Amino acid sequence: MQQTLIYLDHAATTPVHPKALEAMLPYFSENYGNPSSIYSIAREARRALDNSRQTVAEILGCQPNEVIFTSGGTESDNLAIKGVAFANQNRGKHIITSAIEHHAVLHTFQYLERFGFRTTYLPVDRYGVVDLQALEQALDDETILISVMLANNEVGTIQPIREIAEMIRGRKIYLHTDAVQAGGSLDINVDKLGVDMLSLSAHKFYGPKGVGLLYVRRGTIYWPQQQGGGQERNRRAGTENVAGIVGMATALRLAYENLESNNQHARELRDRLVQGITSSIDHCILTGHPERRLPNNASFCFEFVEGESILLNLDMLGICGSSGSACTSASLEPSHVLKAMGVPVETAHGSLRLTTGTSNTREQIERVIEVLPGIIKKLRAMSPLASGASELPSH
Ligand code: PLP
Repeated sequence: MQQTLIYLDHAATTPVHPKALEAMLPYFSENYGNPSSIYSIAREARRALDNSRQTVAEILGCQPNEVIFTSGGTESDNLAIKGVAFANQNRGKHIITSAIEHHAVLHTFQYLERFGFRTTYLPVDRYGVVDLQALEQALDDETILISVMLANNEVGTIQPIREIAEMIRGRKIYLHTDAVQAGGSLDINVDKLGVDMLSLSAHKFYGPKGVGLLYVRRGTIYWPQQQGGGQERNRRAGTENVAGIVGMATALRLAYENLESNNQHARELRDRLVQGITSSIDHCILTGHPERRLPNNASFCFEFVEGESILLNLDMLGICGSSGSACTSASLEPSHVLKAMGVPVETAHGSLRLTTGTSNTREQIERVIEVLPGIIKKLRAMSPLASGASELPSH
């Protein structure tokens, strides 16, 4: 008998909402026109793009022409950071980010170092909150850009973006936030956040993969990073992913229409997971901020075990989780996020992230709480790292 899947990796990706899928389908079949063409099926596609842009602009609290559709979070981050850095380098070549960003941001910063940009990677505290004092000290006359994520993908910690915006108010420094993990669960109103640019990715909020957007505040000076046709008002060349964009806008609208109930559901299940796991397993710590975190994120470190082994054992029972971020879990390098938070390397190796979503049930959560202690116990019994475990105080 096939066991039912218990999917607890919604920070990696989410299933497409049936209504988003339904909204997309006509743009693969009868309305397949290229939105840049002039006949009626093309005009249909153009209308769908315009409506989608209007929908997402309402949620972001911006003008539709401040939204650029992209191929996802990675492209949006690249466009924001490289676009602003290259276009404003005449004013200064100092750019600031945090040590716990997604690689879409970190690797873009490292790439810019090759072009002579001076980079600052802000430290975080043990809960993963960016150090604002360090930011204050890092700012100088050459600073042109700050990029700090709204919420972290591994530990879920929410960053003080509003405070950062206040800190640089009146200075000619652009503020970008990677809101990929926050989209669909936190307020992403760009004026309330005080940001000039914001990245989103549809597949994190029950939209399709391979589509995202970048909000760019009017007046922001940046260079497009892709050359070609004049799509997206000359800001992002390439025929638009019409069906994907329609799916993204529909999914984002549904997420914000149901924000309270979805968040409450995710949080209740997450709280039960955290309580059930930390109370039944010794030498286990909750990573990330205890309160200022995404409602669906439960992330832990278990001492004396490897996160990869926990994942494989959970997988055998049909339970999907992740260790570190989805993009890095193929390597055995401990997470840069946990390292920056001061978690010892050996402890960081035993990380497990479980992220809840709309279709999870209380029974599924109870099942995880029931099986996880046995898995950890079995792995510790086999681990040479665990020999001193019983003598150590439990957390
Ligand atoms: N930024 C963050 C915080 C993410 O979590 C991810 C994906 O995991 C990305 C960017 C990359 O987004 P995409 O998968 O759409 O390229």
